[in-house]
Amino acid sequence: MSETVRVFVPQEGLTLTWPQRCARCGSTGKLVESPCRVGRVKSLRPSLLIGLTIRSDVLFLPVPLCKAHATQNELAAEILEHSPVMRLLRVLAYLGAFMAFALVYSSLFNPGGWQRVSNMGWFLLYPTLSVAAIGAIVWARKRFAVWPERFDPDKDVIVVHFSDPTYAREFKYKNHKVTDETLTESPPWYKKSLLWKAVVIIAFLLFMQMLIHR
Ligand SMILES: [Zn+2]
Repeated sequence: MSETVRVFVPQEGLTLTWPQRCARCGSTGKLVESPCRVGRVKSLRPSLLIGLTIRSDVLFLPVPLCKAHATQNELAAEILEHSPVMRLLRVLAYLGAFMAFALVYSSLFNPGGWQRVSNMGWFLLYPTLSVAAIGAIVWARKRFAVWPERFDPDKDVIVVHFSDPTYAREFKYKNHKVTDETLTESPPWYKKSLLWKAVVIIAFLLFMQMLIHR
């Protein structure tokens, strides 16, 4: 079971103290500082010359890891990254995997299904790759050491997952100033920006519905 720690990011920048052993296997041998990236988009603004100006924050957490686990952790963090591109790829992978399931079902249980599915040719590449991608996501979730998942959309807080709960508790203790719950606790449900965005979208859809059916 992994452990989640919420870390407050002060205006003047974040300085963290890491327990000096590999965050995955606990080895104290040769450690490398593996940079784990976490980002957020602060604002999107159309501009005349470039088309779109994106203001974003990117934070690098230098996680001490042994060499083998540094490589593994970087790959896992890449697969699980919360950037718009990776999120889109993951959604496509879930859709493709669902399609793969439907195709397998159809080729097994529908008369002539196997023939129809095998006639799809190159198109079968998409569901096949999607299943492989889901495999990679499952692998990444089992194999990361430290995964800074995302910024809290409502606070200057990052959400960091640790695969080793003992390491997580020690990290929290060593950085108690920025992991203190009074600083990092998530806001009550009625203060969450996502909730109000959803309310606005639903209200807009209802309004459109009313206009159409008038
Ligand atoms: Zn290790």
